[in-house]
Amino acid sequence: MSEAKRSCCKIVFGAGHGLLGAKCSRPVKISSGGKFYCSIHSPEYLAKKEREKQDALAKEIEMKNAAYERLAAIREFKNSCVRAIREIAAGHNDAQSLAQFVLESEPKP
Ligand SMILES: [Zn+2]
Repeated sequence: MSEAKRSCCKIVFGAGHGLLGAKCSRPVKISSGGKFYCSIHSPEYLAKKEREKQDALAKEIEMKNAAYERLAAIREFKNSCVRAIREIAAGHNDAQSLAQFVLESEPKP
């Protein structure tokens, strides 16, 4: 029997495959480790998809961390503004310099 006539060795689940699943019926494209796989169940393809999934997850975590850091910087700037206003209200002797000092710490967009 040629490899093109064999079916993939993976068990698939879902509609029409029964409770215990059924053997994948896609044609064999790759032989690896003595087993035969279709194009979407080959170990190389699955490893590539897993790498892509991990890369996307790492990128999402990086973006969330950056957003969190930006929010923390904005929160700290807001707190600095409130402290400065309180100092000015209490009679700070150089309100203009204090305001300029606080404004210099404003997070950049
Ligand atoms: Zn398959």
